[in-house]
Amino acid sequence: HALTNDPEGIVEADRAHVWHHLLQHKPHDHGVDPRIIVEGKGLKVWDIKGKEHIDSVSGGVWTVNVGYGRERIARAVGDQLTKMCFFGGTAGTIPGATFSQMLIDKMPGLDRVYFANSGSEANEKGFKMVRQISHKHHGGKKSKILYRERDYHGTTITCLSAGGQEERNAQYGPYTPGFVSVPHCLEYRSQDGSNGEAYTAASLKAIEDVILREGADTIGSLCLEPITAGGGIITPPVGYWDGVQALCKKYNILLHIDEVVCGLGRTGTWFGYQQFGVQPDIVTMAKGVASGYAAISCCVTTNAVFEQFKDDTDKLGYFRDISTFGGCTAGPAAAIENMHIIQEEGLLENSTTMGEHLKANLHALMEKHRWIGDVRGKGLFAGAELVMDRDSKEPVDEKTVAAIVGDCMKQGVIIGATNRSLPGFNNTLLFAPALIATKDDLDHITDAVDQAITRVL
Ligand code: PLP
Repeated sequence: HALTNDPEGIVEADRAHVWHHLLQHKPHDHGVDPRIIVEGKGLKVWDIKGKEHIDSVSGGVWTVNVGYGRERIARAVGDQLTKMCFFGGTAGTIPGATFSQMLIDKMPGLDRVYFANSGSEANEKGFKMVRQISHKHHGGKKSKILYRERDYHGTTITCLSAGGQEERNAQYGPYTPGFVSVPHCLEYRSQDGSNGEAYTAASLKAIEDVILREGADTIGSLCLEPITAGGGIITPPVGYWDGVQALCKKYNILLHIDEVVCGLGRTGTWFGYQQFGVQPDIVTMAKGVASGYAAISCCVTTNAVFEQFKDDTDKLGYFRDISTFGGCTAGPAAAIENMHIIQEEGLLENSTTMGEHLKANLHALMEKHRWIGDVRGKGLFAGAELVMDRDSKEPVDEKTVAAIVGDCMKQGVIIGATNRSLPGFNNTLLFAPALIATKDDLDHITDAVDQAITRVL
C-alpha cells in the first residue's frame, strides 16, 4: 500500500492496528482520530493534518534534547549502519568505544559504560549488578534496593517494583521482592509541615529510619532520580543530596542515580547529579543520550563496582547479562553526534539561561493566577503545580489539568502534565523543551498556558 500518500489511509491503519503507549483508545471508536506526527524541525512538529505545533516536551516524553531534524545525526547513523550495523555479545564496536570515552570524560569518578536500549533496561542492569555483588560478597544478604516515593525507574515488572507512583503500579502486581520505599522529598507537600533546613533533616532522617529498620547489611543500593520527573518535578531541598551521599557512605550502600530524564543537559549540566555535587556509584541514562534518533541507554559504573565482576578463580563471576540490541551501532553513532551538538552549540548554557527565563515566566503566571501553587525545576525542566486553593493546597482535579493541556494543544502548543498518581500529586504542568529553546519559544509556550488557564479555570 502506498500509504504515505494517503493520510486518511494512515489514520485508519493506525486506528485499526496500533496499540498506543499510555492511551485510552475508546475515543478512537467514537470518531476521535489518532494523533500522528509526521515531521519535525527544531522545536516544531507537524501532524498528519498539516497542523503545526510547538513542542515543549521534546517528543512527548522529554527525549529530543537537541531538537528535531538534525541531518548530522541521521547521516552519521546512516553511514555507520552501512559500514557495520551490529555486532553484539562479547565484541565491541568503534562507535561504542568512542562514545564510552566521550561519556566518561564528562563523568569524573565513573569509569565503565554498559550499553542497553531503554531506561528500564539500564535500571535493571543496575539492579542486577547490585544483586550479583550481594551474592558474591555478602552471601546474598545485601540485596535490597531502596527507592523513593514519587520516583519512576521504568516499565518492567522489576522497575515497577522500584517505582514510587502507586497508580502506575496498581494493576501489575505481584511485584519483585526486595524493593523498599523511602518517603518523597517534595517540600511543598511536606508531610510534617516542616520547611527549610528542618524539612531537609526530616527527609534524611526518614531515609535513615528505613535503613535502620531494614538493617544496613541487607541493603545493596539506593536508587533515586536527581530531580523526580514524572512524579511531579520534585527538586530536592537544599542539603538533601549531601545528606544522601553521607548516608550511603555511612551504611556502605551503593548510590544509583537514574539520569534517564535529567541526563545530557536537561537541567543545565551534563547530568542532574552534577547540580548537587554528589558522587554516584551507578548512573543510568537513556532519553537524551541520542535525543531519540536511535534507541540507546547506558548503565555507567565506577571501577570499584566493575572490578567486583573480574575474577581469575570464578569463571562465572563476570556480569552474566546481555542485551542483544545493546550491540547495535546506531545508538552510539547517534549519541556521539548528539554530544558534539550539545557541546558545540553551548546547549548546557542555553538550558541554564533559558531555564531561568522559563521559570521567571512561570512565576509571572503564578502572580497572575491563584491556581498555580508552586513552580519547580532546574534548567529546561520545569513544573507548575496547580491547586484549587493556595492555603489548603487542594489539587486541581485531573479533568481540569487535561482541559488545560487540551486547550494548549488547540493553540498548537504541546505541554505535559505529570503522571496521575497519589491524591495531591496529579496536578503539575510539565515543560521540558529541546535545549535549543529561545526566549520567543518559551514566551509562546507560557502565553498559551496563560490563555488556557484563563479559559479553563
Ligand atoms: N527512569 C525515569 C526517570 C524515567 O522517566 C523513565 C521513563 O520515562 C524511565 C526510567 C524508563 O525509561 P524507558 O521508558 O526508556 O524504559
